[in-house]
Amino acid sequence: MDSKGLLIVISGPSGTGKGTICKEVLKRNDFWLSVSATTRSPRKGEQHGKEYYFLTKEEFEAKIEERDFLEYAHVYNNYYGTPKSNVIEKLEKGKDVILEIDIQGAINVKKAYSEAILIFILPPSYEELKNRIVNRGTETEESLKTRLESANREIECSKEYDYVVVNDTVDAAVRRVESIILAEKCKLKKMQSLIYDKFLIKNQ
Ligand code: 5GP
Repeated sequence: MDSKGLLIVISGPSGTGKGTICKEVLKRNDFWLSVSATTRSPRKGEQHGKEYYFLTKEEFEAKIEERDFLEYAHVYNNYYGTPKSNVIEKLEKGKDVILEIDIQGAINVKKAYSEAILIFILPPSYEELKNRIVNRGTETEESLKTRLESANREIECSKEYDYVVVNDTVDAAVRRVESIILAEKCKLKKMQSLIYDKFLIKNQ
């Protein structure tokens, strides 16, 4: 069996509930969630090293220079990036890794690591998306407008993804994500060495 872990990349417009889906998937499965670095300020209750590594612009740019990121992107005027070494180490050890990152980042991950599985989370409707962002209560009118505009652009990019999951209910969306991961684990290329090593009679 291919003993490397799967790299699962989950993205979707702000307010689609991808964070909630990831949390549920992580509760129910032994996956590892990569903690990103960002230059944005922590929201209420967010902790350094838990939701994000909160860095200054200078610290972040030094890490770009040192090639410490698997990918990084500029989102809503801030940097966001996936620290590389931890992800690679976990995959090598056979751990399945989840990245919850934006679309530019997802596409760059696929370029750098073609086996990555990209899952796009769609809200059930545009109205529902708007309600979810408003109800979160963390956006100003200006940032709500920016997030909705980017959502439209991002949904167009779903064609770059391997899978699309509609988040109508969290439970159904989580089951869809789990099913995708399970199917990916059963793919022939993941199982080939098991077939050859354990089942096929050697010619000697
Ligand atoms: P938020 O500020 O709401 O936590 O995240 C804003 C956006 O940045 C979300 O779409 C989130 O998925 C994305 N993001 C978070 N971490 C990363 C990362 O490491 N790389 C990239 N490219 N995007 C990220």
